[in-house]
Amino acid sequence: MKNDIAKFLEISEEIEEEYRKKRTIFEDNHGELKKFVHNGIKINNNIAKAPKTCMFPNCSNETIKRSHTIQSSASLSLIAESNHVLQPNWNDFDAKYYMKKVGINEASVFTGFCKDHEQIFNFEKKKLINEEFDIILQVFRTICREVVNIKNVVLTLEKVVENYKKIRQDKMLANIESKLEKPVKSIGIQKYTVDLTDETSHVYNLQLKECTKRLNEFKSFYTHATTDVLNKQVNKLSYTAIKFDQFFPVSLAGVASFSKKNGKKVIFIINILPYEDGTLMLAATSKKEKYYLEKYQNHFSQHPLMLLNMVESWMVHGSDHWFIKPSEWYKHPIEKQEKILNDLYVTEKNIFSNYDLSIFDDLRTKFIIQPYNISNDDYSDSLKNLIDIEKEKLKISPYFIKPTSLHRYEYWMKNQ
Ligand SMILES: [Zn+2]
Repeated sequence: MKNDIAKFLEISEEIEEEYRKKRTIFEDNHGELKKFVHNGIKINNNIAKAPKTCMFPNCSNETIKRSHTIQSSASLSLIAESNHVLQPNWNDFDAKYYMKKVGINEASVFTGFCKDHEQIFNFEKKKLINEEFDIILQVFRTICREVVNIKNVVLTLEKVVENYKKIRQDKMLANIESKLEKPVKSIGIQKYTVDLTDETSHVYNLQLKECTKRLNEFKSFYTHATTDVLNKQVNKLSYTAIKFDQFFPVSLAGVASFSKKNGKKVIFIINILPYEDGTLMLAATSKKEKYYLEKYQNHFSQHPLMLLNMVESWMVHGSDHWFIKPSEWYKHPIEKQEKILNDLYVTEKNIFSNYDLSIFDDLRTKFIIQPYNISNDDYSDSLKNLIDIEKEKLKISPYFIKPTSLHRYEYWMKNQ
């Protein structure tokens, strides 16, 4: 018996060392990995669908199943075709984005509010956001969706990690017993438990840490937004709204962030809301970052081409929570569609940078040739320069695609 224990200790140490170095425990078993990923998606879906407590301050009612982040009666229905829009959707199986067709009743929904508080967004019925309080509410529900979403991810990750460790432990025990040539119970070991950090669990830990940090960043944002909602006036957050008389066939409601020179992160809540005669672009941030928001708005509202750049940058460098008119998307060749979707994930840029491809070619062409009642010679050098760059964007191809798996690996290894 004593020899058995010594042998067990020796073998288990060897196996633990082996597993610590493994990049993945599913290496040669694709079916097993698929099952694991599939299970993770199922966990996430169940958590996302489960009713929660209403996000309205001081309300403890249970949420309804579908609260929209973007109004379905206006913005979404305007870009829908046969009541459907397209949305970038992350696929865990092959770690990349695909375009998913979604019905406008499902698009942008989350478990956010109870039946009563869902009614506060009554500008839904008016169809157009045009009052200060409508803007406060729209920013508030974008923040609420973000908070609910991150909480869902945290809960999912915790469960997935638990599953992963259980599978790993079972595998290790099977390996030990096969080397020992007998069950560990037969040598008096009732339970074999081990916790070690391998590459996969290391990345999970980093993801959890990042999500928890993000959730904390949003706590004060949420508190400020609720104060503005309760007081029905702009006070705790800073807001900007650009009303543009051109229709963008895209709608977005999400969050973008960038780092200041001192490394501190600034968060912008962003919205693109098309309406019949134009598009409303909203942005909000905490009061102390008002300077950046104003600087941002002043910069991008100088010219229609700049606004177009802003919209495209929000879509690629800002938030993946957007919906596009299907026929608009299918105008692009497949390779370009893939490149844009790849860039949603593989990017180091933020919303201050222009995207280097053109998503809305027709609008770009229109803004380039738009007459300004001045001759070309009177254009400033900076405008000439801008037009040249924008013309080039319409020509770019073919496209270099960096594998998302490689980007993900580099990202998490760098952020240790
Ligand atoms: Zn409520």
